[in-house]
Amino acid sequence: MINRTILRSAAVLAMAAGLSACASFSPFSASLDKRVKSHVAYLADDALGGRDTGAQGYELASDYVAGFYARSGIAPAAPEYRHNVPLYNVDLGATDGSLTISSKGNSIETTAGENVVFLPAVGDMGVEEARAAGQVVFVGDGIVAPELGLDAYRGIDVSGKIVMMINGAPEIEDNPASVHLRRNDTKRNFAAERGAIGILRVDPNGRAIQQFTNFARPGRTQVSLGQGYAKPLATALLGKDAAVSMFEDAGQDFDAVVEKVRAGENINFSFPASAVLETGGKAEPIDAWNVVGVIPGTDPALKGEAIVLTAHLDHVGTRDDGNPETDDIYNGALDNATGTAIIMEAARKIAEAGENRRTVIVAALTAEEKGLLGAAHLARNIGSLGYEAVANVNIDMPVLVYPLNSIIAFGMEYSSLEAPFKAAAAEVDLYASPDPVPQMSLFVRSDHYRFVQEGIPSLFLFSGMEGENLQNFQTFMQTHYHKPSDDMDLPINWKDAAKFTTLTADLVTRIANDPERPTWNEGVVFAKRKPKG
Ligand SMILES: [Zn+2]
Repeated sequence: MINRTILRSAAVLAMAAGLSACASFSPFSASLDKRVKSHVAYLADDALGGRDTGAQGYELASDYVAGFYARSGIAPAAPEYRHNVPLYNVDLGATDGSLTISSKGNSIETTAGENVVFLPAVGDMGVEEARAAGQVVFVGDGIVAPELGLDAYRGIDVSGKIVMMINGAPEIEDNPASVHLRRNDTKRNFAAERGAIGILRVDPNGRAIQQFTNFARPGRTQVSLGQGYAKPLATALLGKDAAVSMFEDAGQDFDAVVEKVRAGENINFSFPASAVLETGGKAEPIDAWNVVGVIPGTDPALKGEAIVLTAHLDHVGTRDDGNPETDDIYNGALDNATGTAIIMEAARKIAEAGENRRTVIVAALTAEEKGLLGAAHLARNIGSLGYEAVANVNIDMPVLVYPLNSIIAFGMEYSSLEAPFKAAAAEVDLYASPDPVPQMSLFVRSDHYRFVQEGIPSLFLFSGMEGENLQNFQTFMQTHYHKPSDDMDLPINWKDAAKFTTLTADLVTRIANDPERPTWNEGVVFAKRKPKG
C-alpha cells in the first residue's frame, strides 16, 4: 500500500531494512522452503517497485541475485554477472519511410498511412535504418514447415530480393505450432535465412494498415531489442489495393491465390516488378542486462555444451491510478520472483554437488514482460559467453497457491527432454502432466520460446492443473495475474516451492549428464533447418 509520491523515500528505508535482514538471516543453514521464501520476500518487496526493466528496482533485484550467485560458488558468466541487453525505447509514431514500386514499367502510388505503413525493422525496431531495392517475389504466407507439407520458398530464389507474403497461416491442428508459424518474427527469419533483403506484408482482409496506424500514435513507445539480428530487414505493410494491382500485372488473381495459400498450397512467383523500400525511426537506449552465472561442466568433451536455466527477474513496475488508497506496486511475487528464487536455489544445489558433466548457465532475465527480450538476446548470443546452448529449462510464474499435485513441462511432447523430465517428476512423486490448455499456446508465451526459435529443445516448467486445480489456476489468472495483489499476502505454499526447486535441479542435472545431446522429435516444426543451397 504505497503510492508513487512516497515511493522513493520508502524505497530507501525498506532497502536498509532488507539489507540488515540479509545480514542476520543465514540463508545456507535454513531449510530450502525458507530460503526460497526469503528470496521471494526480498524480490517482491515494495522497495523494488515492481522490478520494471530499466528501473532502479530491477538493479536492486539484480544485485541481490548476483550476490547470491557469488556466495553460492556460481561463477560470473559475464563481467559482474551482467550480460548487457541492447534494449531501446522505440517511438512507434516516429517510424517513417518510403516505398516506390515499378510494376510492368508503371509506378504504383503508395501513401504512408493510406496504403502502406513502415515498420521499424523487425527485431531492430528502427534502431538502424533499413533499405531494400530489388525485384519483388511472392512467397505465399512465407511459412516453411516441411513436416506439414508447407514450403513457401519451394523452387524459388529470393536472395537479394524483396518478398511479399500474406499475413496468417493455414489451419494447423497443433495450436502452439500454429502460433509459432504465423508469427511475424518466425516468418522474418525464414525470409532472412534465404537471403531476402526486404518484406512487404499484406493483410488479405485489408484492415492491418488502419489497425497499425491507430496503434502507433505519436508518442507511443515500445521497448524493443536492437542488434538482435545480423542485419536489418526493411519491412512494410502494404495495402491490399496496391497488392491487387501488382497481382494483375503478374496475371494472377489475388483472392484466388490467397484462398489456395490458406488451404495449404505452396504458391510462389516473381512479379514483373521492382521496389525501393526505406524505413527509419527514433529510439532511445535503455540500460538493461540479464544476470548470468555459470557452473562449468566436469567433462572435457561435453563442457562446451550448456543447459541454460532461466527465469525472468523483471516485472511490470508501478501504476498511478490517481487513487492514493490503492496499492500501486506490481510486486510480482509469483510472476516471477518465485521462479527466480527457484532457479537460484536449484543452481546452488547443482554448484554444490559439482557433478554436472555439461555446463549449466543460470540466467535471471530482463524484459520478459516487454516481449521475451532478455531471453531473445541470450538465446541468440550464448556463443559470446563461450558455450553452445543445447537445452533450455525455464520457470515462469509457478502458481503455488493451490496444492501441487502434478507438474507440467510445456513442450515435453516435442523433444527428448520428456524422459529426464518424467524421471525428475517421479523422484518427487509428481505426475508429469501433458499440456492441459493447448488453446492458450503457453509453449510460445514465455522466455523458453526464444530458445525454441533458435532451434534449441526447451521445457517450460509450470504448476499442474489437474482436477479442480484447472479452476484454481483460472481463478488466479482472473484475480491476481498482473495485478498489485500478486504479492506476499498470497497463500504461497513454500514446501511446494521447495519441491519444485528439487525437481528443477534434478532435471537440469539429468540433462547435463545424459551422454546424448537433446534432440527434437521427428516431425516437429520447431526443429531449425538451415535452408538448402
Ligand atoms: Zn508476467
